[in-house]
Amino acid sequence: MKIHEYQAKELLRRFGVPTPEGKVATTVEEAVKIGKDLDTLPVVVKAQIHAGGRGKGGGVKVCRTLDEVQHWAGQILGMNLVTHQTGPEGQSVKRLLVEQGVAIDKELYVGLTLDRDTKRVTLMASSEGGTEIEEVAAATPEKIQRASIDPAVGLMAYQVRDVWFGMGLEPKLVGKATKMCMALYKAFIATDASIVEINPLIITKDGDLLALDAKMNFDDNALFRQADVVSFRDLDEEDPKEIEAKVYDLSYIALEGNVGCMVNGAGLAMATMDIIKHCGGQPANFLDVGGGANAEKVKAAFSIILRDPEVKAVLVNIFGGIMKCDVIAEGVIQAAKEIELNVPVVVRLEGTNVELGKKMLNESGLALISADDMLDAAKKVVAAAQGN
Ligand code: ADP
Ligand code: MG
Repeated sequence: MKIHEYQAKELLRRFGVPTPEGKVATTVEEAVKIGKDLDTLPVVVKAQIHAGGRGKGGGVKVCRTLDEVQHWAGQILGMNLVTHQTGPEGQSVKRLLVEQGVAIDKELYVGLTLDRDTKRVTLMASSEGGTEIEEVAAATPEKIQRASIDPAVGLMAYQVRDVWFGMGLEPKLVGKATKMCMALYKAFIATDASIVEINPLIITKDGDLLALDAKMNFDDNALFRQADVVSFRDLDEEDPKEIEAKVYDLSYIALEGNVGCMVNGAGLAMATMDIIKHCGGQPANFLDVGGGANAEKVKAAFSIILRDPEVKAVLVNIFGGIMKCDVIAEGVIQAAKEIELNVPVVVRLEGTNVELGKKMLNESGLALISADDMLDAAKKVVAAAQGN
């Protein structure tokens, strides 16, 4: 799960991470009032969307007067902000963070994330703040310092000092940076975060350290014990298809292609996406209906796929193990009755009750294309999506 910058800052402040002062606004009037109450100029108006790169996309503006706050709040609220992280379709801005403008001496980077190779949380820091860490890693990897954290003892102050001295930070700032990193790690663990990223972490002209931006993602599997984090969820920022999929407990991720995939089991879902690509097509989604799905769940999954306007053909690829083929057939038939089936559907069933499932589909009167194996199914669905 992702949250906004202003929410991440609110969370991190509770753990003692210093940030500029600021508040969130949803209207121009609110933005101006917050600007006035801050009682300091300049003030920075920042678009709140679940994506980075807002500065370059025109979503972060420094305002020297309250009139400028009014002007930029009006421009940014409601704008369709396109950044390299939103994709070309962009994201509509519904909230603004209005915060104290800070005089920046230098921009640094610090982040915590799970390193899957070492199976440990890793602290990363860089002298190249403000730029994306992926770019720094590609162009100047020597400018990134890392510390791998032993889960039994947690982050140790000496590790953090090592990192910052390695970066050439002045000794008097290393103390402050160490305090901040310890607080970030505490927040990371306490909230079951998967990423905490401060980019930029700045040195102010007064020689202080501040988290000027904040990004936090959380482990969805831990949300059941993170009520505070869940309260930050903003459905405006999520794909409505993914929201509905969560209601039915489906693993669904929307993608850019045009071949809808309805599959059971994450491994088979991955293999299905691979084979579609191998045959020259592009999957429109990843979907795992799970092992113990009932007809209702299958129906929900099928209708989520069909309502995606990008989908030009659907591949139902099911291995009936725990899940029986007739249950899948029933769900597909029910969904197709309620939603007009206006795209070709290729079905490949194998496993428990496969004969019964195929019979039900054949007798349903639905115009389905049957396939014998995965390659056959993939070839047929890619051709169908291309209108052949
Ligand atoms: P994004 O990463 O989405 O572009 P940031 O919050 O990192 O958004 O803001 C982009 C840039 O805007 C920062 O690198 C910084 O130079 C400037 N900036 C952001 N917030 C402030 C602030 N409160 N005061 C001064 N400059 C700011
Ligand atoms: Mg940033």
